[in-house]
Amino acid sequence: MIEIKQNHSLKEQNNFRFDHKAEFFCEVHSVEESHEFIDYCLNKNIPIKLLGDGTNIVLTRDIEGGVLKVSIPGRNINRNEVNLGAGENWNEVVLWSLENQLFGLENLSLIPGSVGAAPVQNIGAYGEEISSKLVSLEALNIKTNELILMTNKECKFSYRESIFKKKDDLMITSIKLKLSKEPKVNTSYKSLKNYLIKDDINPNRATPYQVCRAVTSIRNQILPDFKVEPNVGSFFKNLILDEMTFNKLKKKNVDLPHFKNPKDLTYKVPVAFLIENAGWKGKKQGNVRVSEKHALVLIADKGSNSEQLIKLSSVIAKDIYEKTQVELEVEPKIF
Ligand SMILES: Cc1cc2nc3c(=O)[nH]c(=O)nc-3n(C[C@H](O)[C@H](O)[C@H](O)COP(=O)(O)OP(=O)(O)OC[C@H]3O[C@@H](n4cnc5c(N)ncnc54)[C@H](O)[C@@H]3O)c2cc1C
Repeated sequence: MIEIKQNHSLKEQNNFRFDHKAEFFCEVHSVEESHEFIDYCLNKNIPIKLLGDGTNIVLTRDIEGGVLKVSIPGRNINRNEVNLGAGENWNEVVLWSLENQLFGLENLSLIPGSVGAAPVQNIGAYGEEISSKLVSLEALNIKTNELILMTNKECKFSYRESIFKKKDDLMITSIKLKLSKEPKVNTSYKSLKNYLIKDDINPNRATPYQVCRAVTSIRNQILPDFKVEPNVGSFFKNLILDEMTFNKLKKKNVDLPHFKNPKDLTYKVPVAFLIENAGWKGKKQGNVRVSEKHALVLIADKGSNSEQLIKLSSVIAKDIYEKTQVELEVEPKIF
């Protein structure tokens, strides 16, 4: 039996702690409970918004209709494949996979949030993305209440993108990942490689456990703790540029850091560099500010609200556009 709460505050359900309400809120722990709440909303003819751990959303208003928080548990191993419930915590799953000698998720250590939200933005870090491990997933269509199986290809993954960002009527209930029993690691990402070398570890001989520890330490050093300084990680996506646009930008910024993708000849450019270069790092406007640790991270201090935050992000994006003619894209979901 599901519990539906009316006019439920979502303050504890979003990293920024913005105090907006859900007209109808329900936390589901199984596919059956999800069916039940979806039926309830379909009968009332009200829309549904999906929520995981709320680490990558910006609440700007009260939500009319239903808010479904996905808390479906489940961890199963079948040889080198794992089946995971959408409500599992991502980082706990990474550590659990390593305890079970299943490798391949170590570069994605310490990314906050739930398993179910991970494919939505194709979480990625230190040269890896979940899309390279995902075999398939199960999802509920929240407009028809049908359960469907989707292959990796059908998820249409790209950099911080998937079909789930474009069509928000699919609720992921579980995912299947293919991991490796061989402790092969990917240490090609520059800052990871340098960190291992500084720690006297040969990047070519590093174990997955050493990579997990290194990634965890780097992240703890460069990112503010969202429980102390409320944030949603990167507020803007990094840039993926074609050669002509990249060359134009490079002319203005000779030291522009970049990564050339040999497969499609695009250039990935860290937006933190542009924001820092434009003088925004550590800048404060009202009760919101750009982190002193990382220029891509916006922090909402006590007494702030979503208007202040959205205003700061727009002012930054406008300034970067005026200086570089590139348009920044917001990464978290704005509700
Ligand atoms: C400090 C910090 C560092 C971060 N670092 C990284 C990083 O390195 N790389 C990276 O990629 N991301 C990073 N993020 C972003 C965040 O961790 C991911 O986006 C994560 O997947 C969000 O999970 P969540 O459960 O909190 O999702 P939520 O914030 O609850 O939701 C995010 C979006 O997913 C949708 N959604 C949630 N659950 C489901 C579901 N089961 N089915 C369908 N849609 C769903 C929501 O509707 C919403 O649109 C970081 C965030 C923080 C706070």
